Amino acid sequence: MSLEDRLFSFQAGNYAEAAKRLLDSQKQSWEQCSQGYESLNSVLVRQFEFDGFSIKVQFNPGRLTSSSAKVDPKSIKERKCFLCIENLPDGQKGIHYNSHYLILCNPFPIFPEHFTIPAIIHKPQAITGSFIDLLTLSKDISERYIVFYNGPKCGASAPDHLHFQAGNADFLPLVYEYPALKEKYGKPVFGGKDFEVVYLNDSLRNLIIIESRSPEQAEKTFSALYRELQRISPPGEEPLMNIISLYEKSKWIVIVILREKHRPARYFEEGENNILLSPASVDIGGVCITPLEKDFNKLTKDDLIGIFNEVTLEDNKFSFVAGNLKNSL
Ligand SMILES: [Zn+2]
Repeated sequence: MSLEDRLFSFQAGNYAEAAKRLLDSQKQSWEQCSQGYESLNSVLVRQFEFDGFSIKVQFNPGRLTSSSAKVDPKSIKERKCFLCIENLPDGQKGIHYNSHYLILCNPFPIFPEHFTIPAIIHKPQAITGSFIDLLTLSKDISERYIVFYNGPKCGASAPDHLHFQAGNADFLPLVYEYPALKEKYGKPVFGGKDFEVVYLNDSLRNLIIIESRSPEQAEKTFSALYRELQRISPPGEEPLMNIISLYEKSKWIVIVILREKHRPARYFEEGENNILLSPASVDIGGVCITPLEKDFNKLTKDDLIGIFNEVTLEDNKFSFVAGNLKNSL
């Protein structure tokens, strides 16, 4: 099917509204999508309270394929890319966005409204060169949604095809708790009303947040952070990160989640100790996805502390990066 045949025609004031209409329409016309949202109605949620914030656990069997996805180069090479237009399921429609992207409904939702936004061209998942697109998209759909990015070695189930995801702005605890978290744990290292860089360690996560009214300033700061992260990363690879980006009150808030590794040791363990939890933006953002009921039932607060501490950047590396970034601003 060609790009033209895929396009959803809409008359709406903005992309957020258009995406919502696309989803309403796809739930009617595309069975896989309606089934995905049907099963979202029966997910179970537990909530754990920490000092000043909360982490939820969502039992979501629909996410099994994604959580257990093989993302090694050989497996990726051997499968058909599921984000390329020619391989999309028959009933799937999209919105042409910013000439280079398609807004698609994610048929395996975590959010009440969940989208995948792949580049139209098959090219590797990389934030260099696409950071400005992330900002633009965050603004264009900010009326309802936030945007997130999972690095190629850090949760993207299509590391070979550039894509973002988007979901409801009021869904992730890290997003709606951010003002309080910033107040309690944030260390503003630079800036004022129009531009601010905040370091945040809440005992579970190490985050660097860029708040900016100017996309150029945000990009410049992100590039500086990227360069510092490269110094502690294997040469030629994108530093491990997840990004959650939102736009509110005429300002971008870009939360960069610094990562030590993708999957925790317990993901690979056999038997009792195994936990199938493959953390990416959404999980670190406060909604941990367990596709298996056994994990949902047994997970404890200590398990979460252990997993978060294992997969987010070690404190000494964080201090190194944060110190260097501060000097370069
Ligand atoms: Zn592709």
